Amino acid sequence: MIKLNILDQETIKITNKKRIINLLYKKRELTKQDISKKLNISVPTIINNVNELIKEGILEEAGVGDSTGGRKPVIVKFISSARYSFGVEVKPHYVRIILVNLDSEIQYDKYFKMNCLQNFNKVLDKVEEEIDIAIKETKIERYKVLGVGFSLPGTVNEEKMLLEIAPNLMVKNICFQKFQSRINIPVYIENEANAAAYAEINLSIGNEMKNLVYISITEGIGVGVIVEDNLYKGKNKRAGEFGHMTIVPNGIECNCGRKGCWEMYVSERALLNYYNNNSTEKISLLKEFFNKLDNNEEIAIKVWKRYIDYLSIGIQNIILALDPHYVVVGGEISEYEDNLLNYLNEKVFIENKFYNEKDNRILLSKLKKDSSIKGAALLPYNKLFFLGSKII
Ligand SMILES: [Zn+2]
Repeated sequence: MIKLNILDQETIKITNKKRIINLLYKKRELTKQDISKKLNISVPTIINNVNELIKEGILEEAGVGDSTGGRKPVIVKFISSARYSFGVEVKPHYVRIILVNLDSEIQYDKYFKMNCLQNFNKVLDKVEEEIDIAIKETKIERYKVLGVGFSLPGTVNEEKMLLEIAPNLMVKNICFQKFQSRINIPVYIENEANAAAYAEINLSIGNEMKNLVYISITEGIGVGVIVEDNLYKGKNKRAGEFGHMTIVPNGIECNCGRKGCWEMYVSERALLNYYNNNSTEKISLLKEFFNKLDNNEEIAIKVWKRYIDYLSIGIQNIILALDPHYVVVGGEISEYEDNLLNYLNEKVFIENKFYNEKDNRILLSKLKKDSSIKGAALLPYNKLFFLGSKII
């Protein structure tokens, strides 16, 4: 018989527990016998682990199932309010904080305008203060908070807990380690498009597929890449920076210091700027632009055609590079489905010898404005509860 050392036994125990939680998270409730069958783990081991998870308050007994002879089997249920997690989204001009339960349902949601440019310490002070307020207001015990996940618009090295560079926030090398010790809750950080991709695959369309590219259209452009359920970040954690691929040589100057980057043509800001440069009227909201487009205003139509052209070129390049199942377009712009999807499908798949609409599909984000913040809030759960997905 192979003797396992203590470390191996401990690993198996943790893995078994994770598998049980993961199964019940999906199935909601099962008898211990069903869990044993589905996971191919012996009934006594299941009973042991389930008892521990009941003690930890993650599972509860919920009645009895039908008997197949002998004693009626006890049903065990997943408790979605057993643990919580914070998601924090930092943008140039606002910060949003949510608290979610294990089902990613929002329990607390606060949005505050603030100038986040240059001074990141101010942002972290505010987040610390707001976390305390949220815990007090929701009356959730602090030990039940598994972590705080940040969605950040820049290059993130999650292992070093470092926001390396965020041109749109005008900050560099922000380390989150001190902040973690200060708040005494585990902190996780991720790039906003990666976080959104992660949320879309885990909370919305993940059951249908495993390869996805998420394009986050906000004040900049971020792209998150999921390969076989794993978040692909590459050697230097910088994969997916398609927002800075050159789309127009010597084009418009970008915050990154180069010219003609894709985001200078397809970000929200780029769309509004181009409209404002061509019209005597000045607008600052996407809603205003789409009102004009819906009213068939000539300038708006011209601006939109140009926008779709540039967006399509970038998406075509991404499909050529990665051949994903789905390309998911997110950000506020994705809420204008009627104006976006048909035009985009037409342009992206037109006159294309490499692929068609059956090979790859363009979808609009299902989680809308919640995608990256919910993805951020999932990060603490991933480490402690879920199996499978890795960062590669
Ligand atoms: Zn750039």
